[in-house]
Amino acid sequence: MAQWYKVSCENCGYTNELILGSSVTAESLKDLNEDSADFKIFKCKNDRELFTIDVHSSDFDNKCPVCGAAVTEINIDKIDGHTCPRCDSKTLKIEPVVHM
Ligand SMILES: [Zn+2]
Ligand SMILES: [Zn+2]
Repeated sequence: MAQWYKVSCENCGYTNELILGSSVTAESLKDLNEDSADFKIFKCKNDRELFTIDVHSSDFDNKCPVCGAAVTEINIDKIDGHTCPRCDSKTLKIEPVVHM
């Protein structure tokens, strides 16, 4: 099941919201086959940004969608020690978001 995560860094103020998981709402992704989407979080060192990328997409080739540099997958189960893409300090928090 897909889940939104809020990412925030208390050191530099970076924030982002990212979706992770394999089940998506038909509303947000009407043109994709629901079974084929699998969203993962990747970091681009070049842009100093985190992206959600559908790894089952035929367009995905481990490259940043913005600049084309190689991206690194972020394992969100590793609660401690996430490095902020902006300031490189290990103060990045990743917590599930509940949308009511
Ligand atoms: Zn930061
Ligand atoms: Zn990039």
